[in-house]
Amino acid sequence: MTVSKKVVLRFDAKIVDQPIMYSLIKDYGLIPNILKAEINPHKQGYLVLELSGENQKYAEGMEYLNSLGISVDALDEKVVWLEDRCMQCGVCTGLCPTQALSMNRPSMEVSFDGEKCIVCEMCLKSCPAKAVELRF
Ligand code: SF4
Ligand code: SF4
Repeated sequence: MTVSKKVVLRFDAKIVDQPIMYSLIKDYGLIPNILKAEINPHKQGYLVLELSGENQKYAEGMEYLNSLGISVDALDEKVVWLEDRCMQCGVCTGLCPTQALSMNRPSMEVSFDGEKCIVCEMCLKSCPAKAVELRF
């Protein structure tokens, strides 16, 4: 049986040199799709991944990450777009890294595709109408 999950990896920058992706692919047969990666000013790494693979190998891959001191959490928050509140200003569409929030042309209407959202929260911080919310 196979699994496919979106997870958030948090780690110290000092392990950035570790061949994490290589090992997940080569040693555990997992297919990582990197949705977001960044290292913040406090030198903490943050990686949002979609990981697919065989169930047992997936569990072993998680153990491998934990053994490196990497915390792995399910990406279970989701962003909800409240269309009624949206002023169609378009601010979020310029910030959204995945085009989950996008401006349709030529109508110039904003739309939201939850499947593309990686919960980076950029839109939550920028929306003047509080038309995007985080749900758990
Ligand atoms: S949280 Fe907002 S800005 Fe980030 S991907 Fe989702 S819709 Fe786009
Ligand atoms: S920033 Fe807020 S109000 Fe503006 S288009 Fe995006 S969701 Fe709508």
